[in-house]
Amino acid sequence: MLALGIEGTAHTVGVGIVDETCRVRANVYDMIRPEKGGIHPREAANHHAEAVVPLIRKAASAAGVRLKEIDLVAFSQGPGLGPCLRTVATAARALALSLKVPILGVNHCVAHLEIGRGVTPAKDPVLLYVSGGNTQVIAFARGRYRVFGETLDIGVGNMLDKFGRECGLAFPSGPILEGLARKGSKLLPLPYSVKGMDVAFSGMLTAALALRKQGEALEDLAFSIQEVAFAMLTEVTERAMAHIDNDEVLLGGGVARNRRLQEMVGRMASDRGARMFVPPGDLCIDNGAMIAWTGLQMHRGGVRMKLAETVVDQRYRTDEVPVTWR
Ligand code: AMP
Ligand code: MG
Repeated sequence: MLALGIEGTAHTVGVGIVDETCRVRANVYDMIRPEKGGIHPREAANHHAEAVVPLIRKAASAAGVRLKEIDLVAFSQGPGLGPCLRTVATAARALALSLKVPILGVNHCVAHLEIGRGVTPAKDPVLLYVSGGNTQVIAFARGRYRVFGETLDIGVGNMLDKFGRECGLAFPSGPILEGLARKGSKLLPLPYSVKGMDVAFSGMLTAALALRKQGEALEDLAFSIQEVAFAMLTEVTERAMAHIDNDEVLLGGGVARNRRLQEMVGRMASDRGARMFVPPGDLCIDNGAMIAWTGLQMHRGGVRMKLAETVVDQRYRTDEVPVTWR
């Protein structure tokens, strides 16, 4: 069985084609990169509207299949930016109707976890999901993916991007800051905001920008932001693992590509006799393959959706999804 998945919750529109063994046959995407300022939801949606059909064709040709051979269309139903979600849902409905195949709306956060289980040996991991808009610690418990901890304000990637933007760096700034951080060495005081199992990043952003105004070097600031933010994330992830006695940790989301984060979480895992798994970079960021794969899993678990049930949900919660396929 072949599924085509369309992702489009935020800055990236992606199309993936995956088979029932989780072989990724195609995974293509395009990201809006605003010249200045942040992402405007309407502009991102227009970008996705223009890019989605060429990407569907590109995915089919990369996979070496004709669209007629697709058995299922899946799309990112939420959470995300309303205009982006609606654009991608419309494309998915049109495609499913014209191919006369089932359509399934997929929870984006659940998809980050499922693709990690699909392409790494992780079986029942605690997921540290760190992206632009989302930051959550997720694990499976009693039939659902439950959120053990999350950001109380902005996602960690968003904090990195906003800091970079204010300092004149390009979008996305996370990878640029990672490079700068390697040249930094002075650990500057930044707020360590762990509240119970949750984290917060806006105070760190404000404090880092103030230090920048006082003339601190960008390299030292990048270094300090990474050390403090990633320590916070590692702490809550470890606590979730201890709480449910789990010995697997999976990274997901664009920030999971960061080597220093991988090093810190990997060290925590090995200290407690656990294992860390990191999917390939193209499957960490927002991508269509994870949507296709999760759609296949849902279909296997008996999930079916009428067109009327494919309305998008900007605030679709991870723990709202009945996980019938595990
Ligand atoms: P996503 O929202 O999952 O597609 O991931 C995009 C986010 O990941 C953006 O906020 C990027 O700045 C961030 N990101 C990507 N690569 C890195 C990296 N190497 N280090 C830190 N952040 C990164
Ligand atoms: Mg994401």
